[in-house]
Amino acid sequence: RHADACAVVIFGASGDLTRRKLMPALYNLALGRYLTGSFAVVGVARRPKTNEQFREEMKEGVGKFSRRKPVDSAVWSDFEKGVSYVAGTFEDKATYEKLRAHLEQLDQERGTRKNRLFYLAVPPADFGTIARGLKEAGLVAPPPNGDRSAPWTRVVIEKPFGHDLASARALNATISKVFEEEQVFRIDHYLGKETVQNLLVFRFANSLFEPVWTREHVDHVQITVAEEIGVEGRGKFYEKTGVTRDIVENHLMQLLCLTAMEPPISLEADAVRDEKVKVLRSLRPIEHSLVTENVVRGQYGRGHVRAEEVPAYREEPDVAADSAVETYVAARVFVDNWRWGGVPFYVRAGKRMLRRVTEIALQFKKVPHSLFRPQDGGITPNVLSLRIQPDEGIAIRFISKEPGQATVLRDVAMDFRYGTAFGSNTPEAYERLLLDAIRGDATLFTRSDEVEHQWAFIDPVFDAWNAGAAPPPVYPSGSWGPEQADDLLARDGRRWRKP
Ligand code: NAP
Repeated sequence: RHADACAVVIFGASGDLTRRKLMPALYNLALGRYLTGSFAVVGVARRPKTNEQFREEMKEGVGKFSRRKPVDSAVWSDFEKGVSYVAGTFEDKATYEKLRAHLEQLDQERGTRKNRLFYLAVPPADFGTIARGLKEAGLVAPPPNGDRSAPWTRVVIEKPFGHDLASARALNATISKVFEEEQVFRIDHYLGKETVQNLLVFRFANSLFEPVWTREHVDHVQITVAEEIGVEGRGKFYEKTGVTRDIVENHLMQLLCLTAMEPPISLEADAVRDEKVKVLRSLRPIEHSLVTENVVRGQYGRGHVRAEEVPAYREEPDVAADSAVETYVAARVFVDNWRWGGVPFYVRAGKRMLRRVTEIALQFKKVPHSLFRPQDGGITPNVLSLRIQPDEGIAIRFISKEPGQATVLRDVAMDFRYGTAFGSNTPEAYERLLLDAIRGDATLFTRSDEVEHQWAFIDPVFDAWNAGAAPPPVYPSGSWGPEQADDLLARDGRRWRKP
């Protein structure tokens, strides 16, 4: 489907997210001719500035952060005609009155047809204020109920969706006072990544893999989200967040859902999301008493990343000298259903790891009987790995005979690389997600019940940690995390991959 005529209204338009991600994404959509001529972008933020100033700032951001450089001046000058700015605070009624008048003018001048996408690029504490402000100003139309000519209103909200189950529920309740669930698009930018979408294609457009994607053949699954960077000056944010809230509750659990879910009946948003919710409901709860046995956390100490000496987490600006915030977490998770009964999913996420890599790896069972002598070389199990970033691709490891007169076994890889097959100029996650929101396709957005199930799974882990568990062990920066994480797998006779 083509994008509808509409106005995208960005709250928090002078923020970092707008400059680095949203505007470059919208510009790239314009460049790719995905947007109609009846399109407008309205920035809303506190500081007064003219349309010209705002356009200039946005152009500078696009020049710096767009994946396609330099900025195409013809495309930009056409695009910027639709870019404007409304100054005001979120708390002030007048902001919404001004915005309404401005949007009505855009309906006339640019043909935006009363279709509005409100993008809340603001902290969650402001969601309620903005939603109420929009409603009181009459800026929220009811869902069109299948009437394709009726104007629509949608709202995009950014993570974090709460910091625990109670706050996530409260946030959902606040939003649902103003918007129907079908109008709410909760962004998890991981779902906009090409390789994550390809997971669905890989699993459900090939007949080769799905039959072995089960407990009969899979020994265990490993999901890794490893970063090399530390907190990068965001100590204040990280002290309140930690890796479990920042990465595991959302991105990592979404990857787990897409890996474990059953084939949906269609690719419609709710069909896919229903299957993800079934996975979340099948997760074996990690109750308080099971946390020590199944979850390991860690915090980075000093070390070397890419040969550069880096400070410990506790030495970072705005971080407490005795901080117990985790920068690494690993867990053993079970999906208690027919497909996955007894198959552990080992998941881990961390900062200051040896290498930046996000991947999903399925390790298959050993052959039932070996025909080869130990001195021929060991038979390592087959591994199928899907690399989400960097070097996006899919690899299968299998055992092969080394050429020669003797039988010598060797583990080799069959490698598919996106960059090689398709070129490297793949769209950014925000491009796909913004376009989907403009088209009204919520498949790649998280539904309220998904978010609540995710938190319900995570909450007991925090309860256990808060109940005076030992502080997180320190691991050296530039490693694969604390030793205790290795023990988690060693107890099951397994090892972490070193991707
Ligand atoms: P930011 O740089 O702090 O920007 C905040 C924006 O909100 C500014 O435009 C500011 O306007 C405006 N603002 C704040 N309070 C206001 C008020 N009371 N009235 C009117 N305007 C107000 O934030 P950000 O980094 O863009 O992030 C926004 C949200 O997205 C956050 O919740 C963050 O957690 C989330 N997020 C960010 C990223 C990222 O890459 N940055 C990624 C994922 C999620 P003025 O400048 O005019 O004061």
